[in-house]
Amino acid sequence: MLLPMIWKSWAETVVFEPGQMVHPSSLEGIVDTVKGAARGGKSIRVVGSGHSWMPLVRTDHILVSLDHYQGIEAIDKDKMTATVRAGTTLEQLGAALFEQGLAMENLGDIHDQALAGALSTGTHGTGVTLGSLSTQMVGVTLVTAQGEVLEWDEISHPDEMNAVRVSLGMLGIIARITLRVVPTYRLKVEQYKEPLTKIIANLEENIQNNRHFEFFWFPYTGYAIPKRIKTTDEPAVEQKSSRQVFNEILEQSVVTSFFSLSRSFSFLGRALNNVFIALVADEDPGYVDHSYRVFPTTRTLRFQEMEYSIPAELLPNCLEEIIHTVEVNRFKMFFPTECRWVKGDEIWLSPAYQRDSAYIAVQQTKGSPYEDYFRQIEPIFHHYDGRPHWGKLNTFRHEHVAACYPRLPDFMALRQQLAPEQMFLNDYLKRTFMG
Ligand SMILES: Cc1cc2nc3c(=O)[nH]c(=O)nc-3n(C[C@H](O)[C@H](O)[C@H](O)COP(=O)(O)OP(=O)(O)OC[C@H]3O[C@@H](n4cnc5c(N)ncnc54)[C@H](O)[C@@H]3O)c2cc1C
Repeated sequence: MLLPMIWKSWAETVVFEPGQMVHPSSLEGIVDTVKGAARGGKSIRVVGSGHSWMPLVRTDHILVSLDHYQGIEAIDKDKMTATVRAGTTLEQLGAALFEQGLAMENLGDIHDQALAGALSTGTHGTGVTLGSLSTQMVGVTLVTAQGEVLEWDEISHPDEMNAVRVSLGMLGIIARITLRVVPTYRLKVEQYKEPLTKIIANLEENIQNNRHFEFFWFPYTGYAIPKRIKTTDEPAVEQKSSRQVFNEILEQSVVTSFFSLSRSFSFLGRALNNVFIALVADEDPGYVDHSYRVFPTTRTLRFQEMEYSIPAELLPNCLEEIIHTVEVNRFKMFFPTECRWVKGDEIWLSPAYQRDSAYIAVQQTKGSPYEDYFRQIEPIFHHYDGRPHWGKLNTFRHEHVAACYPRLPDFMALRQQLAPEQMFLNDYLKRTFMG
């Protein structure tokens, strides 16, 4: 007897049974899959590593994973580019580039995503001089609904590149991505607690004087933990310091137990948050490591997340309103709120389209109620002209998308040209992008 194949996203916000799951291991295999789907009148969604919270990949028809299509295909050290199979994870890519003396110019805070999955939603790290990961894409191999293989780059097809860089799988299957890369570099990280008022008072200095700056605000404490990261010539650490080991233990075990305790005994929550902040050091000698090892953190604790991009200069006001709303409503949430910065870009569906942005992410541990909390916070983001991270929880509707994305008609016209039968759409995408 065949058991049903149930697919679940990382946080289990999306659970469904695809009609069929396919893992092509070559470009020809991807083309055959698309042609077979076209013949059978089936639609296709492509999945990366399933780390999005939204129903982007939900389908009753064919779910395609490129997890058997991985690795670097070519490196051009004159142009400083790497051509990579779309199913390669960021973790595999970081290590493989490092062996060649190369690195990605920036990363987000995990490296579990597939390259095409990460870029297709506009995944970002932090740093005012750095765009999202999608801006690193300078060329692409795209398989269309007819099974045609298109090769675009930013010189030959500048408009199409600005469409495909953040395209949520709506234009076709991205088979290969050519990325702009940089020589390997080392980073020095400092992370210690500070009063939130101090961080906000010195915000401009913090974001301008660090290659990467972000902070995590801890509710009900008045404190945040900023992360300041600069490039350095100092050698990478061979062995972790006792402080780093302590920090990791703190993050992984103490936080986990605090969160479980606060779920069971909600009256303890705010006190536990203050105990947690008290345990975090208020100074840090910092540590040095290679960039691809510095950016990713291990996330053993599953959580729900909503993240919006807003105009960078509005962050202090927007955050103040969020804090006020949390405190007035006494939400039982003990997970920190993360604030990051991303340089504006020209990508048609990018949340950072034509504006330097601050991204604010609210989170709640999996299993704790988050609906009311997120429902109260989302209008604040809308009030500050927010655009959601496409992979993270949001209720953005077609009218919002149409109002916030002036190039949406161009994107949809290109989509129509490449996939007139709507092969690469599901109900959520039709509702949100077509109305
Ligand atoms: C613990 C955790 C930490 C995170 N940290 C960050 C962070 O620091 N910064 C940030 O911005 N985001 C972050 N995210 C969000 C995450 O980066 C995005 O949701 C990302 O899109 C997930 O990548 P994935 O490979 O899992 O793609 P999936 O979620 O599987 O798919 C995402 C989209 O990509 C499309 N896609 C995948 N492969 C292809 C392909 N070959 N061709 C065409 N389309 C394709 C899919 O159809 C879908 O629309 C985090 C998520 C989690 C769970």
